[in-house]
Amino acid sequence: KSGFITIIGRPNVGKSTLLNLLTGEKVSIISRKPQTTRHNIRTVVTREDFQMVFVDTPGIHKPKNKLGEFMMNAAMDTLDDVDIVLYMVEATENEIGPGDQSIIAALKKVHTPVILAINKVDLVEKSSLLPLIDMYSKAHDFREIVPISATDPRTVELMFGILKKYL
Ligand code: GDP
Ligand code: MG
Repeated sequence: KSGFITIIGRPNVGKSTLLNLLTGEKVSIISRKPQTTRHNIRTVVTREDFQMVFVDTPGIHKPKNKLGEFMMNAAMDTLDDVDIVLYMVEATENEIGPGDQSIIAALKKVHTPVILAINKVDLVEKSSLLPLIDMYSKAHDFREIVPISATDPRTVELMFGILKKYL
């Protein structure tokens, strides 16, 4: 089994942190500043039973200028070219803001399976997760919705287990 995976989401949701956790490499820049990951970075994870190629796209967002428009188009093209889209949001937000609204709108045109990871669950009460899952499941028909913490090493096997099903 093998396939291409792209991690998308607004700046700061934890895409680079998760990518680094899954690949075990410091391949992308982690920063509080948005847009530090400017290029698609490919990292290959090879295990006995699967091979996953990760593409860390710049976040899809409402384009404010030509560069933003270009990056949005590049990201959108990538989404249909991969086998799995891993869309990340933060558990600390209990509303779907304009940035995520526009990403979700874009995802509706995509044919690739989309898995939603609700990240940073370590920062919220357990009781807030069910309402969040409910809110996102109403917003889009995600293949899976999985609460995670990209800073927790146990997330490695959890995510690989889920991703493997869609290769
Ligand atoms: P990106 O812009 O989506 O690539 O986000 P980054 O991976 O750069 O992460 C942004 C910030 O969130 C960094 O300070 C990370 O350490 C932090 N972060 C990422 N995942 C988690 C998590 O699961 N829990 C907590 N508490 N912080 C996280
Ligand atoms: Mg990043």
